[in-house]
Amino acid sequence: MPQTQWTAVDDYLCEALVPQDEALTAALAASDAAGLPRIAVAPNQGRLLYLLALSVGARRILEVGTLGGYSTIWLARALPADGRLVSLEIDARHAEVARANLAHAGLAERAEVRVGPALDLLDAVEGPLDFSFIDADKQNNAGYFDHALRLTRPGGLIVVDNVVRHGAVIDPDGDSAVQGVRRLMERLAAEPRVEATAIQTVGSKGWDGLMLARVK
Ligand code: SAM
Repeated sequence: MPQTQWTAVDDYLCEALVPQDEALTAALAASDAAGLPRIAVAPNQGRLLYLLALSVGARRILEVGTLGGYSTIWLARALPADGRLVSLEIDARHAEVARANLAHAGLAERAEVRVGPALDLLDAVEGPLDFSFIDADKQNNAGYFDHALRLTRPGGLIVVDNVVRHGAVIDPDGDSAVQGVRRLMERLAAEPRVEATAIQTVGSKGWDGLMLARVK
């Protein structure tokens, strides 16, 4: 099935189930205007993150990889008024756009963007967390997962994006991003403290997948 059909189906699903709103549309427009790459999650994926975070009653959320704050807005909206989200971003320009987008969405009090290499920032992130979304450089997925696991309470969820990579995940000689995903999978397979799964997805973002791990 061609990409155009996956996109058409995503458009149909989003129109039916994912009400767009000014803050999310403005966040994407501001990200485009600032020249950020168009690699944010799709609207129905953002809505999935929001629903998952709501489902675990998230009060404390970690995001690794902010970009322009599109997924951050979805996640922060799942928080109660006194909930907190910390999002880690290596690129100061991305972080600046994200902060403006979060402020425009009325979420500046709930969501904080910290700038630097995420592995360097994670030691200072305070737990316990209820939900983590990992969506940065795939090479460091296993390291990000280790921190998220250390910080997440029993019953909390850890979600990692882009774990299928157009099917390349099955290639043991794949590129460094594929190697990063495969290290994560090996890490998960040997980790008794979580129950995990991964699913393939198709849609406006092409063929990829999500990993979900619940901390026991
Ligand atoms: N989660 C965002 C969304 O859906 O709206 C998309 C994030 S984008 C796929 C990945 C982001 O991770 C980029 O903004 C990139 O600059 C950032 N990034 C890459 N390497 C990083 C690192 N080592 N530490 C922190 N952020 C990093």
